[in-house]
Amino acid sequence: MAERVKFVGVNSITFNRTFKTDDDCLKYLTFLKWEEGYSCKRCQNRKYSQGKKLHNRRCTKCRYEESPTSGTMFDKVKFSLLKAFHIVFKISTKKKGMSSLELSNEFELRQKTCWEFKWKIQQAMASSLQYPLTGTVHVDEFMIGGPELEKRGRSKGAKKLIVVALEILESGVGRAYAEVIENASAKELGSFLQKYVSKEAEIISDEWRGYIPLKSEFKKLEQIASDDGKNFKDIHIHIMNIKSWLRGIHHHCTEERMQGYLNEYHYRFNRRQKMGTTFDLLLKRMVKNDPIRLLSNN
Ligand SMILES: [Zn+2]
Repeated sequence: MAERVKFVGVNSITFNRTFKTDDDCLKYLTFLKWEEGYSCKRCQNRKYSQGKKLHNRRCTKCRYEESPTSGTMFDKVKFSLLKAFHIVFKISTKKKGMSSLELSNEFELRQKTCWEFKWKIQQAMASSLQYPLTGTVHVDEFMIGGPELEKRGRSKGAKKLIVVALEILESGVGRAYAEVIENASAKELGSFLQKYVSKEAEIISDEWRGYIPLKSEFKKLEQIASDDGKNFKDIHIHIMNIKSWLRGIHHHCTEERMQGYLNEYHYRFNRRQKMGTTFDLLLKRMVKNDPIRLLSNN
């Protein structure tokens, strides 16, 4: 099999030159899907012949035929594959992504259709949980959609409580993750840290009591006075940026959907220095992801 040509870059002209037709996109998906070699879904046979359609593969043993899109997030998409590629490209490479309304105008699709497809993309943008934050990590919570005064309240209805962790570097900031939590209890904060922050990290939080019990597991967790936010400047800027980005978006969303937006925001944020590879990576995730698992979150 020929070497796969990986699309690198954020340039629309190059993108348009590379992907002119649905067939160009199908070819790309074919490479991504069977990058590690073909294996029949049904009988695991590794030999195939061409199926009824050009890029389909048919097992030589059991005759099971598979298309490049089947079992991927591009399966049963209601519009052309080329449009789908355009949307993935925009969302992965534009600094602020695109809202479903903007997508709907640009690609002449119904807003709901865009909203649904974007939801899939956001699922693929979730952290792989393979690279927890390290070094100095600040952690804080914030509220969205409710009265701001009540900082540690519960997530309820439109009101969502979000915990965020951010790497603090010698100059500037590193990566970050955020998650919707039920409340600011040690249990909720602890399960967030377990997922996203290394046990070795020097975690710094304010003096909220929910963090106290976590010191036995996270040995380097330190609590300092917030001093009206002066000691947590970088993370507060990060939170402000998330909030202002979210403001341009649908207000009444479910907890899962809010998590989708947080995934999207941080997928781009954590790759802001290597935006050129984000499109290919996102496509790969969309091809490998199990759509059944994703549907259950819908
Ligand atoms: Zn087979």
